[in-house]
Amino acid sequence: MSLPPFTLEHARRLDHEDPLSRMRQQFLVPRHGDGDLVYLCGNSLGLQPRAVRDALEEVLADWETLAVEGHFAARRSWMAYHELLAPSGERLVGALPGEVVFMNSLSVNLHLMMVSFFRPQGRRTRILVEGGAFPSDQYAVDSQLRFHGLDPAQHKVELRPRPGEDTLRPEDILATIAAQGNRLALVLLGGVNYYTGQAFDMRAITEAGHAAGAIVAFDLAHAAGNLELALHEWGVDWAAWCGYKYLNSGPGGLAGVFVHERHGRAFDLPRFAGWWGHDKATRFVMPDRFEPMAGAEGWQLSNPPILPLAALRVSLESFDEAGMPALRARSRRLTAWLEHGLDGLPAGRFRQLTPRDPEQRGAQLSLFFPGGADTVMEGLQRAGVLADLRRPSVIRFSPAPLYNSFEDCWHAVQRLGSLPASVTTGG
Ligand SMILES: *Cc1c(COP(=O)(O)O)cnc(C)c1O
Repeated sequence: MSLPPFTLEHARRLDHEDPLSRMRQQFLVPRHGDGDLVYLCGNSLGLQPRAVRDALEEVLADWETLAVEGHFAARRSWMAYHELLAPSGERLVGALPGEVVFMNSLSVNLHLMMVSFFRPQGRRTRILVEGGAFPSDQYAVDSQLRFHGLDPAQHKVELRPRPGEDTLRPEDILATIAAQGNRLALVLLGGVNYYTGQAFDMRAITEAGHAAGAIVAFDLAHAAGNLELALHEWGVDWAAWCGYKYLNSGPGGLAGVFVHERHGRAFDLPRFAGWWGHDKATRFVMPDRFEPMAGAEGWQLSNPPILPLAALRVSLESFDEAGMPALRARSRRLTAWLEHGLDGLPAGRFRQLTPRDPEQRGAQLSLFFPGGADTVMEGLQRAGVLADLRRPSVIRFSPAPLYNSFEDCWHAVQRLGSLPASVTTGG
């Protein structure tokens, strides 16, 4: 878009002109003084949809009046509750019916998926990850390697930016995959890097990984509900994401898993099994022998927690209402607007880590403050702007397109710009 002057008046006009601005009313925005808090942390914990309270109360009331009968007799039967979410999940990540299930939390699911899809054999033993990946992913990968008797120092391959650069060059990712070739068992990258906000070309990475004979998987913690995804079409083998960041399902909310249909009937894959992954028709007969359900549901272990599922169900409804293509279009404009404002601040106080290319980012701009970010963060917080501090030097600003406004971005830039230079330079 061509960028108008960065003024409050223009911010309000942009909000007024965008029909998706109405979605903000579906959320509870925390207050700061007499106004709304400028909340730019939706990539850490999404805001509470107003509809969550009623959805939870419905489950509580059914539990109160029906008790165990609620498994079948609840207004939305608990037996099949997770199935209600699957169509929204499929739309969200671009999946076919049967390819998505909501269960557990993200790190648990990374492990369950690696049990089935990281099977080192002969020379093919390595896992490719982002250097400086989210710690939980590193721990998961390291411990899976050790579980197979492999030393992470030798079998974990880390992608790093070139010296003096902040993000990975797309061609370097593909070249590394090709160079690793038949040593590579699993490619496991974020869809969006949590720290830099860089979005990766998942289609190209999947093609390159498959050409090398590897399984290709993505951690979509920062991509689900942020980018338009087409996991099935891209041929991604599996993916996992949490529900409480862009998806707004509440603290510790349920996570999602995608398993490509080509693996959905691979019943010979090793997997850790539980009764909820067993064939529905005979689950309650409780036979001795485990017979997995086809598709992603076959990886379920336990009967799922209905209260968190209820919260996630209504939070996914906002994505269905807005539609990912329209939401992503708004997101591009919001993030570009924020960047436009930041570009107007005095040079030298910070550096933007996130790529300027809109194709290589979602709803996040990470700023690096050479003098340290702690005091900047404090100053912003006092001024009613909540962003996310990654010590020592980075603050992440995430305008979430469902509830953040162009005006929010204007206030964030205005208040950042009003901090004394001694704060933003760490002097
Ligand atoms: C947020 C996040 C996690 C969190 O894992 P949980 O199991 O949900 O606690 C893991 N990995 C990445 C990349 C994340 O961004």
